[in-house]
Amino acid sequence: MESSSQGPADRTIVVWYRRDLRVADNEALWAAVHSGARVVPVFVSSEDDEQPWQPGAAQRWWIHHSLVSLRAALAEIGLDLVVRKGAFAKSLIAIASEVGADAVFANRRFEPHAASSDAETDKVLSSGGISLQLFDGFLLHDPAQIRTGAGGPYRVFTPFWRRLQEQLRVPPPVGAPELSLGQRTASPGGASIDLGSIESLGLLPTVNWTAEIARTWVPSEAGAHAALDEFVTNRNSVYESRRDFPAELGTSRVSPFLANGQLSPRQIWYAVARSPTIANADAGAHPYLRQLGWREFSYHVLRHNPFTSDAPLNARFVSFPWRRSKADLQKWQRGQTGYPIVDAGMRELWATGWMHNRVRMVVASFLTKHLLLNWRHGAAWFWDTLVDADLGNNTMGWQWSAGTGADAQPYFRVFNPTTQGKKFDRDGTYVRRWLPELARLENKYLHAPWDAPDDVLERAGVRLGETYPKPIVPHAEARERALAAYGQVKG
Ligand SMILES: Cc1cc2nc3c(=O)[nH]c(=O)nc-3n(C[C@H](O)[C@H](O)[C@H](O)COP(=O)(O)OP(=O)(O)OC[C@H]3O[C@@H](n4cnc5c(N)ncnc54)[C@H](O)[C@@H]3O)c2cc1C
Repeated sequence: MESSSQGPADRTIVVWYRRDLRVADNEALWAAVHSGARVVPVFVSSEDDEQPWQPGAAQRWWIHHSLVSLRAALAEIGLDLVVRKGAFAKSLIAIASEVGADAVFANRRFEPHAASSDAETDKVLSSGGISLQLFDGFLLHDPAQIRTGAGGPYRVFTPFWRRLQEQLRVPPPVGAPELSLGQRTASPGGASIDLGSIESLGLLPTVNWTAEIARTWVPSEAGAHAALDEFVTNRNSVYESRRDFPAELGTSRVSPFLANGQLSPRQIWYAVARSPTIANADAGAHPYLRQLGWREFSYHVLRHNPFTSDAPLNARFVSFPWRRSKADLQKWQRGQTGYPIVDAGMRELWATGWMHNRVRMVVASFLTKHLLLNWRHGAAWFWDTLVDADLGNNTMGWQWSAGTGADAQPYFRVFNPTTQGKKFDRDGTYVRRWLPELARLENKYLHAPWDAPDDVLERAGVRLGETYPKPIVPHAEARERALAAYGQVKG
């Protein structure tokens, strides 16, 4: 729909891009365009304002390339993207006064540090006579508006999901807005403002370790819709049965697009459910929509327990006797634990910036239970290496795996990495893909090379302790140690 006025707009609004790097179904952009104002889209990179959760290295790579494609997509509708490096409030005030804007429109963020930074930015902007108006779109539902019968927040997913389904009415997504000539800034006579170079934001690493990430992903709105369409067309119907096998393309792999905003959750909801409510969605879509429900739950828990990105939800774990071992942490980070499914996952993460959910659960359990290292080390490593790093989901995933969080994995459930490997990577395709040094080992021993007879290892070219590590800790011993430590706090 095109905004009605064709003359020059007499008001200017800055649209502040954050984790919503898209043109279609972007509430802040849509509202600014439909107010009839001239629109100036802006992205500001500020490590200080994002502390302590400034984007990690992999996500910075993602954001850089997303900005390049966003700039091109905005140009197609007549807008020039302005980019700046510096404090949010100061940069926005400077741009607003340069272009004569009286308002900044943005989509709300739900991470606790971002919410308080927004409150601060709002104060500074309003002291300069500029209003900050926030819109919703990052989640399907306001996490503060879901309450138990007793009026409190939920801590268990299933009843939360039941209540969410009762309340949820997802409005259909909107497309890219169409601007009248007078609203465009990329037209002759538009904003004469230095647009800033995306390179100057310094988001790319100085040493280029991102080649495999670049081969794996297309960080753009077009790339996002291609991934979503491919999933809906070919794989949604088999999602439930194939989602646990990391060698397969069994899940949608939309997480980085969702975390960085090339897709809105309601675009995904409509592509999959094709209805405003889950009750009317095709039953085959339900298992997938339930996963979107976990994302809503993670933000519900974080909203009501903002400390949980840094501390256990379950207070009994505050004094948990975590081990300290830099050497073990490094072996885990580098995929050198001697457990093939764990090492394959960690190397997939390093190479591609992503890891399959089943393997995320296995490696997280391994770090916290086999190695008894604090989940916060794992969460920090994921934060730096994931292209889909997302504070709600990452916090929830780690606290769930460590047994310290909401609706968490019980403390006595210690994943056996060998069994997990045999069950979910039966023919070893996943392990062989990421551990070439084990590629010639026969299936029977692939998930437990230490059990292989010498001649089998020799034929496969494997020398344990040289070409591939011996297990960092024997499973039975690690399990006993974890049960003893967790037993102290189970209460
Ligand atoms: C230790 C650990 C850390 C994690 N860290 C992150 C993270 O930083 N960012 C992130 O987006 N997800 C995280 N997850 C959740 C999950 O692993 C990923 O969302 C999923 O692997 C993304 O792949 P997909 O898009 O193919 O998922 P699909 O299975 O296709 O699911 C579709 C979408 O639903 C949501 N979703 C799926 N599973 C979960 C889940 N268990 N919890 C919350 N939302 C879910 C995601 O947004 C996902 O993109 C983590 C899980 C664990 C166990």
